Amino acid sequence: MLQIEKNISLKKYNSFGVQAYADAFAKIETIDDAKELVSKISGPPLKKLILGGGCNMLFVSDYNGLIIHSKMMGIKVIDQSDDYAVVEAGSGVEWNDFVEFCVERDLYGLENLAAIPGTVGAAPVQNIGAYGAEQKDCFLSLKALDLISGDIVELNYSDCRFEYRMSAFKNIFADKYLILSVCYKLSKTKKLNLNYKDIRQYLETNNIKAEDCRSIYKAICSIRYSKLPDYKSIGNAGSFFMNPVITAAEMDRILSVDSDAPHFNDSGNYKIPAAYLIEKRGWKGYREGDAGVYDKHALILINYGNASGRQIFDLSEKIIDSVRAKYGITLKREAIIV
Ligand SMILES: Cc1cc2nc3c(=O)[nH]c(=O)nc-3n(C[C@H](O)[C@H](O)[C@H](O)COP(=O)(O)OP(=O)(O)OC[C@H]3O[C@@H](n4cnc5c(N)ncnc54)[C@H](O)[C@@H]3O)c2cc1C
Repeated sequence: MLQIEKNISLKKYNSFGVQAYADAFAKIETIDDAKELVSKISGPPLKKLILGGGCNMLFVSDYNGLIIHSKMMGIKVIDQSDDYAVVEAGSGVEWNDFVEFCVERDLYGLENLAAIPGTVGAAPVQNIGAYGAEQKDCFLSLKALDLISGDIVELNYSDCRFEYRMSAFKNIFADKYLILSVCYKLSKTKKLNLNYKDIRQYLETNNIKAEDCRSIYKAICSIRYSKLPDYKSIGNAGSFFMNPVITAAEMDRILSVDSDAPHFNDSGNYKIPAAYLIEKRGWKGYREGDAGVYDKHALILINYGNASGRQIFDLSEKIIDSVRAKYGITLKREAIIV
């Protein structure tokens, strides 16, 4: 039977490790739990939030509503041919456990997304991406519970409207669906994505032959573990800001104040690394109490121990203001502020 707990600490449910309390917390382990939840929340509109691993969230205050947390587990191959396999994973499965499951079976497509923290259920919501790949590249479909009608629906690629770190679940479907499981179609044929310079460099420096998805998986885990702080020891949410995509006119203005600013063509616009702008404004390694900017990567805000969500948020405001003052563009947060 579904248990709804009251006044729960969210400290262990967010990768920043900040303290916040939720009025109510429902852990969904089975389809029956999910259906029971819908019957319990029908009635006056209730403030609710779906929480995975909390690896992309910053709680700036207590949550006066119901947190819905999926613990739907299990990974299985549900269809296959000589060329491909379709693998389905429960939304509560750790994303990296799922990637490892596929890599161990020589299924190609997700290896570049190794070691991204969080759950399978959040992957399509965020359209997670790294090292020249996005989850949408292999996404097939997902099953979700309609939190209003209680129906279980299947949504396909076009329903989800994937974009850079974005999907329909962040706008038109927000609060509507609890994702229960996700299916990916993976290739049995060797197909390596080595477009990203860091991967090629790592393989070359370490004299590793890119033989299969396992070697890429291992390379990416090593690169990530050397660059990114482990949130289990230093609280963080990965990249806190998104890389701005700006017009040619905005790019010209930036180049007029900083002719070295790196930029990349992005379908007629320009993408500029937010980390560069933040570092140039002197924030890398900055610390204010227990809130700070990681000294190896300016895009990562960290909690040295006892920072509150509000302190981390306030630091992010100062960074946004300072980048805007010099470059005239407003950084957007990738982390979700709750
Ligand atoms: C060290 C570090 C490195 C990172 N590197 C990357 C990276 O390389 N690339 C990248 O894309 N991200 C990266 N991230 C961000 C984060 O890992 C991803 O956003 C991840 O998908 C978050 O998963 P989560 O389960 O913690 O989701 P949460 O943070 O709990 O939730 C994220 C969103 O998904 C929704 N959601 C979660 N579960 C469900 C569900 N079952 N049904 C419906 N909605 C749901 C939530 O409501 C919320 O809107 C990094 C984070 C950290 C801490």
